[in-house]
Amino acid sequence: MYKVGSLVKLTVRHRSNYLFSKTGYDEFLIEGTVVKTPSWVEYDAVAVNTGNKDFPLSIVALDKIVGFTPSRHIKEVETHQIVSGANTYTVTVDSGKVSCSCVGFQFRRYCKHSDPFKKV
Ligand SMILES: [Zn+2]
Repeated sequence: MYKVGSLVKLTVRHRSNYLFSKTGYDEFLIEGTVVKTPSWVEYDAVAVNTGNKDFPLSIVALDKIVGFTPSRHIKEVETHQIVSGANTYTVTVDSGKVSCSCVGFQFRRYCKHSDPFKKV
């Protein structure tokens, strides 16, 4: 759900410390790029790089998230299975860069399977 490299907008709800809070909770919005959750985080959480100068990394516990809006993916990776005769090759398109699992591509960086996916 939270793909590393994707832009997300999360609505996070925390119990309010404010005594006269009408709802009993505070909500705020965290917007940024999902990064790999650091290994020292021992609970289910998503790590978001918000681009904030002082605190760029927000670790958000999954159970505190009440709203999730996926934005566009910065890094879009798609794979295609290409069947050619008896063989199946995997063509990967990673941020516009095309590669293929076939032997020909490993040598020439070019092959007939990956060619149709190249953008002009
Ligand atoms: Zn190929």
